Amino acid sequence: MTARDPECIFCRIVAHEIPSTLVYEDGQVTGFRDLNPQAPVHVLLIPNQHIANTEALEPEHDAVVGAVMRAARTVARQEGVADSGYRLVVNTGRDANNTVAHVHVHLLGGRGLGWPPG
Ligand code: 5GP
Ligand code: ZN
Repeated sequence: MTARDPECIFCRIVAHEIPSTLVYEDGQVTGFRDLNPQAPVHVLLIPNQHIANTEALEPEHDAVVGAVMRAARTVARQEGVADSGYRLVVNTGRDANNTVAHVHVHLLGGRGLGWPPG
């Protein structure tokens, strides 16, 4: 069912080939703690299928993108930040400092978050 890139670290996390602290899993989405957290809650939500970034999104991805967003909402509740608030961030390309080429939503919370971001 899922297209996967054997070279991609996030595809390998989905497959449990490299360790991570998983906080959410279903048939379409995986959530795990960021290795280098920028807030008390910093979870990455990713589609289980390999999609490089938002520039690679096609209409066929609409359902999985929706599932990622709803998983973020579930994890925000799980992590206890749904009431205090949280930020969902998707980086694409150089100016956004995107480093991993598998689309992911950062869920950040547990502290006041400055705006505008750096
Ligand atoms: P980007 O800069 O592409 O939006 O975010 C990539 C994120 O992935 C970074 O916050 C980075 O800390 C995280 N990251 C990179 N490699 C790994 C890894 O192997 N495991 C985990 N848990 N996080 C990773
Ligand atoms: Zn991937």
